[in-house]
Amino acid sequence: MLLGAHESTSGGYYKAFLRGKEDDCDCIQVFTKSPRMWNAKPLKEKEIKKFKDAQSDTKLEPNVSHAMYLLNIANSDAKKLAKAVDYLTVELERAEQLGLMGVVLHPGFSADKNRISLVADSINKAFDKTKGFKVMLLLESMAGQGNSVGSTFEELRDIIKLVSNKKRIGVCFDTCHSFSAGYDIVNDYEGVWKSFDKIIGLKKLVCFHLNDSQYGFNSKHDRHEEIGEGKIGSGFFKKLVNDKRFAKTPGYMELRPKSENDPIYARNIKRLRNMVQ
Ligand SMILES: [Zn+2]
Ligand SMILES: [Zn+2]
Repeated sequence: MLLGAHESTSGGYYKAFLRGKEDDCDCIQVFTKSPRMWNAKPLKEKEIKKFKDAQSDTKLEPNVSHAMYLLNIANSDAKKLAKAVDYLTVELERAEQLGLMGVVLHPGFSADKNRISLVADSINKAFDKTKGFKVMLLLESMAGQGNSVGSTFEELRDIIKLVSNKKRIGVCFDTCHSFSAGYDIVNDYEGVWKSFDKIIGLKKLVCFHLNDSQYGFNSKHDRHEEIGEGKIGSGFFKKLVNDKRFAKTPGYMELRPKSENDPIYARNIKRLRNMVQ
């Protein structure tokens, strides 16, 4: 597995690569705009060049962005949905400009009975607006909190089925989320991949979010923990980083430093590297 982390772009987008290198990452995830604000200034040529130069200097790849948290492409309010499609388009444009492999997206939240087709239609619209782009959209597996879409393999499959451009759609398997959603990666490691393969197809599993979980199996909570310190534990991660099927698959950790200078990613990357046999 290619080991990575969600790195900060504070002080300049290119700095995420320097931080990733410092943490001994193979690849990184970034935000291309503030995850909690709608608007962002267009990227400047100079920023893009610096980012791409830092990528070729550090050779970290493949890299992805995480779409803003406010985006809800399952919104049943037509006006809000149209706005969400516009913002998803912006996310795809920025990621393409920066040469990223994909944009990781929470599929949305909605109690609408048509929520699967709302998501798929939104994706089709955003793909139509970004014709010819290489950047993929990676649907993240969710923990099943509230009425979030995408906590089951069946829902992810159903969305993918309705997306016209299959080349640009894939899945980001979040270990914390799927464990919380009720996929027992700890006690039924092979069973979970067998089921994923049967329902979605393992070739659609494009990347991982490598997070341990503060809450237990099937808890439907989304609270990340450091590798080996949560309810998932080291055993699973040891199997995963040594799994030949995922030898070239990137995995990104998403953790918050405990204090200002806490080298949380360096510590956890090291932990994962020590598990590789
Ligand atoms: Zn996420
Ligand atoms: Zn999460």
